[in-house]
Amino acid sequence: MKKPIIIAGPCTFGSYEELYKNATLVKERGIEYLRAGTFKMRTSPDSFQGLREEGMEMLLKIKKELGLKIVTEFTSIEQVHKYGDKVDIIQIGTRNMYNYELLKEVGKTKTPVILKRAFSATYDEWIKAAEYINREGNKEIILCERGVRNNISNETRNMLDLQAIPYIHQKTNYPIIVDPSHASGLSYMVEPMSKAAIAAGTDGLLIEVHYHPEESLCDKEETIDFETLDHILEFIKKEK
Ligand code: PEP
Ligand code: MN
Repeated sequence: MKKPIIIAGPCTFGSYEELYKNATLVKERGIEYLRAGTFKMRTSPDSFQGLREEGMEMLLKIKKELGLKIVTEFTSIEQVHKYGDKVDIIQIGTRNMYNYELLKEVGKTKTPVILKRAFSATYDEWIKAAEYINREGNKEIILCERGVRNNISNETRNMLDLQAIPYIHQKTNYPIIVDPSHASGLSYMVEPMSKAAIAAGTDGLLIEVHYHPEESLCDKEETIDFETLDHILEFIKKEK
């Protein structure tokens, strides 16, 4: 099996220094892709919304200075027009999987896209959403399973649907990666669920990591530290 792609970084960041420190620690581990959101889709309008354009400039500066590839979420057509060809992978978040106008615009770029599964989407709806991107010409689509809403328990944020991995492999030609962070919303579950996703054949992992998870401005409960990330990386090395 091919080596899984690893994308790691903070959920978001509040300063260049914070981003730089996390980015350096990601790079030190030989990880090529830095994830970090600056246009955040927060459930509450009272929550930190990201540094937005200012944060985007910081991400582009990091790309230049550290040579890391940037993975970040766009939430509007305007952002796609402005920054679509400047980042390495465009992320479409769970809340925008059904935003077909946005998907079509992303489809007009040549930049690879991570299409996260809406937390309540069927496989069919998810694959059809990918089709909106594909039809516009952009074939570089990576599907991302990030946990689905379940009505059995509310102890975890969502429930990781590992079955999505063999299903997508069986039914499509798209690679599928797993985001174990947003799936459970609990940092202690990230390592075991990463291992489970690797065992199930995921093409990659998208992980939230921070040098001080408790200081993270967003999603601190699910953010792991770099020591835990190292355990995951060691596991992958042994598996391959
Ligand atoms: C994220 O990756 O930071 C994010 C907001 O993810 P999701 O859209 O899956 O909630
Ligand atoms: Mn997050």
